[in-house]
Amino acid sequence: MNRSAADVIVVGGGIAGISAALRLAEQGVRVLLLETRRKLGGRATSFQDVRTGLTIDNCQHVALGCCTNYVDLCRRMGVDHKVQWHESIWWIEAGGRTSVMRPGILPAPGHFSGSFLSARFLTTGEKLAIARAMLRILRQDRTAPEIGTLTFEQWLGQTSQPAGAISKFWAPVIISACNLMPDRVSASSALHVIQEGFLATRRSALMGVSSVPLVELYDPAEATIQAAGGRIRLGVSVNRITETSVTTSDGEELGAERIISALPAERLVKYVDPEIGERDARIRAAASVRHSPILGVHLTFDRSVMSTPNAVLVDRQTQWLFRKDRDGRQVHAVISAADDWLALDEEDIATKVLRDIHACIPGSRHARLLTARAVKEKRATFAPTPEFEGVRPGITGESGIVLAGDWVRTGWPATMEGAARSGYMAAGAVLGVEPESMLVPSLSPGAFVRLLGAPGLRDQHRRPVIVGMAGSQAELKRFGMAEKTPA
Ligand SMILES: Cc1cc2nc3c(=O)[nH]c(=O)nc-3n(C[C@H](O)[C@H](O)[C@H](O)COP(=O)(O)OP(=O)(O)OC[C@H]3O[C@@H](n4cnc5c(N)ncnc54)[C@H](O)[C@@H]3O)c2cc1C
Repeated sequence: MNRSAADVIVVGGGIAGISAALRLAEQGVRVLLLETRRKLGGRATSFQDVRTGLTIDNCQHVALGCCTNYVDLCRRMGVDHKVQWHESIWWIEAGGRTSVMRPGILPAPGHFSGSFLSARFLTTGEKLAIARAMLRILRQDRTAPEIGTLTFEQWLGQTSQPAGAISKFWAPVIISACNLMPDRVSASSALHVIQEGFLATRRSALMGVSSVPLVELYDPAEATIQAAGGRIRLGVSVNRITETSVTTSDGEELGAERIISALPAERLVKYVDPEIGERDARIRAAASVRHSPILGVHLTFDRSVMSTPNAVLVDRQTQWLFRKDRDGRQVHAVISAADDWLALDEEDIATKVLRDIHACIPGSRHARLLTARAVKEKRATFAPTPEFEGVRPGITGESGIVLAGDWVRTGWPATMEGAARSGYMAAGAVLGVEPESMLVPSLSPGAFVRLLGAPGLRDQHRRPVIVGMAGSQAELKRFGMAEKTPA
């Protein structure tokens, strides 16, 4: 055995593993990152399509303005300029009637009031009900024990929402943010996203999308980690993990003082030493993880079909469209919580998606579909149900293994922000500092949010940063968070 292959071995080179390894290397720790694939980035990357030879993204990945730690990671990797920020979201109904949601002149939490009031896809009664619920969300302590056992649908039930408000507004927002239906997703996850992503500040809901294939965002991580003194081995599969060593699939045993697992839950359960599995409750929790699928469909048309950078298709099964080229011929459709679609073949999927596009963008009926490539991710994300949130494991626990990954306890549903946070906190645990001190604070809530908001929401930004970077406001300014491609 190579007893001191490194001070710290990080297993898994997705966003969580990259974040942990980079922060440790920056602190002068001898870190070794092991990744089974030939590329870093994990689920948030691209792949070579064997059929066409083209590099295509797993699926559209969207960050929000409130994702301060993911934004910080991009900056550390030097790829921040490759993320484009949009402030408008287009909601398109069957027949083509379009409403735009964008922050107006009012301060948070009222910044969406103008476009919300003028949105045409909601009736006056639905708007009043949504506004009532938003006010309650603002004041709701999402960590309160009575919230822990509720689904978001049960929580919403307390606010008497009409069916149209749920199907046209709450469902698309929550399904795309948490990748789970409102009747399954924990109220705490849904409230977290709405409070942090929509209500806290004017910039929280800015949508960040990569202007390059996802793989180009994470390729530079290799050089960045190495420049900071860390080492990376790609194409190395770990199949046994103990508290101080890992064994690779070709039998090499590597020792270290600390091991960070940044593997998906089911992989950790498979590879962790059974003796650790018995005494560490976090491994039992990992075994209880259930997954939720996402379907991404890459479409190419013979002419332009889409004039806006993004679109929510109101009350359709195809939830989002993203324009992938300047002239709107390449369109990416996303269906989250896609359980009902998994049994369909590519042709049926394309037909269904096309039906939704034709319904909402009538002009697209004249366009010919040239190619359709459906990418099904059965285990796209963990399912943030109330049951799982109740046992969601922390980064440290009964054994010495430190856990990172979007599924460990960060408060966030399965997101790039959750993964980055978990990696930063795992690095903190290894460094012996308060793990949360590694985090970049959330955006400072506006004065009215501080006045009206629930404790968890209004105090977010006050967290100290000991080892982390400077304040989030300064960091985010560097991102030029302004709409880059107005319709
Ligand atoms: C289709 C889809 C759409 C999504 N859309 C969004 C979105 O719009 N916005 C958003 O914020 N999030 C989105 N997500 C979620 C986001 O991709 C994840 O939350 C995030 O990438 C998880 O990062 P991670 O590092 O925790 O895990 P992973 O990315 O799963 O990383 C784990 C790594 O471990 C490696 N590994 C596995 N086994 C071994 C082994 N035995 N030895 C060594 N290495 C191993 C894997 O190859 C992988 O690189 C989406 C996910 C999917 C699948």
